Amino acid sequence: MIPALMPTYNRADLAFERGDGAWLYAQDGRRFLDFGAGIATSSLGHGHPQLVAAIAEQAARVMHVSNLYRVPQAERLAARLVAASFADSVFFCNSGAEANEGMVKMIRKTMAETGRAERHRIICFDGAFHGRTLAMLAATGNAKYLAGFGPVVEGFDHVPFNNMNALRDAIGPATAGIIVEPVQGEGGVRPADLQFLRELRAACDEFGLLLGMDEIQCGMGRTGKLFAHEWAGITPDVMSLAKGIGGGFPMGAILAREAVARHLTPGTHGTTFGGNPLACAAGNAVLDVLLAPGFLAGVDRRGRALWQALEAVVRDYPTVFTGLRGAGLMLGLVCRPPQAEVQQALLAEGLLAVNAGENVVRLVPPLIVTDADCASAVAMIRAAAARCAEIAKVAAPGLAAQ
Ligand SMILES: *Cc1c(COP(=O)(O)O)cnc(C)c1O
Repeated sequence: MIPALMPTYNRADLAFERGDGAWLYAQDGRRFLDFGAGIATSSLGHGHPQLVAAIAEQAARVMHVSNLYRVPQAERLAARLVAASFADSVFFCNSGAEANEGMVKMIRKTMAETGRAERHRIICFDGAFHGRTLAMLAATGNAKYLAGFGPVVEGFDHVPFNNMNALRDAIGPATAGIIVEPVQGEGGVRPADLQFLRELRAACDEFGLLLGMDEIQCGMGRTGKLFAHEWAGITPDVMSLAKGIGGGFPMGAILAREAVARHLTPGTHGTTFGGNPLACAAGNAVLDVLLAPGFLAGVDRRGRALWQALEAVVRDYPTVFTGLRGAGLMLGLVCRPPQAEVQQALLAEGLLAVNAGENVVRLVPPLIVTDADCASAVAMIRAAAARCAEIAKVAAPGLAAQ
């Protein structure tokens, strides 16, 4: 019989009843170090006092009023995001896919309103992940996710990631823009080359296209800068955010330059829940922490230290790991055995991680993770690697001897 909760996920048989910082406590009393952070979402970890207080206080005052009225919490959050970014204006919504849908609508609308209505197509990249709505399935372009869901929404072209020649070849008279993840998350924690990002910006300027960035996973401090594109020294025209923006409270946002945002006039786009007082109270509390002096520098420092420690683990266990990739606190261990086996071993050590494409184990801890937490994680990964290496030795003696 089908479970009452629709079985769209292969869930681990674990239920958490409480969390504290980077740690989660299961109903059966076991505790786990959370290097998955609810898929790069619980940016302040669990039970963060500032976030908890902000949500509780706002919930007691007023949670939702609709966008028929002014929402001071949303005005404040938007102004702060504008001040901290390339953007001139912000639209709030409730999820990543919804933010990306809005981003595509903004790109198309801008073209339509500036006499270029024939330009409606968006170039996306192999290995991308943009969400599960019908249009975002098309933007993602993964055959496995598209199967069975009917005609693919028109208007998305795919080219290899980090390949400028292929990108230039794909630009045609109907191209409106490009959407790129500065660090692909689901696709396997694959960072874009910084030079590639700069050349994307240059190509958009050359051909009059709009550059959209999906920073739903890599944005909001995850790479050690507030937004990942800052590492390349360039700015997009429009950007989507979600995941970490609410610290676990469901929220998405679209940040845009005025030249794009001004085409979204009253009645052209909307959402009932988007930017309600409760969500924006959470967003403001997250931003308070992220923008506090030294916080992002700490993320950067811990990310680099974690990288160094993991590089040594990868070097010591070549039969288990073949590489390390990522940026900041968004790291991927490329596995030799099926990543599910490695994750099983990590779980046995008490570490939660997330899978990603290309047989990668994704490590995306809360940004408030401590040095001691990172040291614990590395010890657990080392122990899990030793466990997997033993198994690999038995399964493939030749490989283990390499
Ligand atoms: C998670 C994710 C999405 C989809 O976000 P949802 O909130 O699940 O709709 C889109 N793009 C990227 C890069 C993501 O990581």
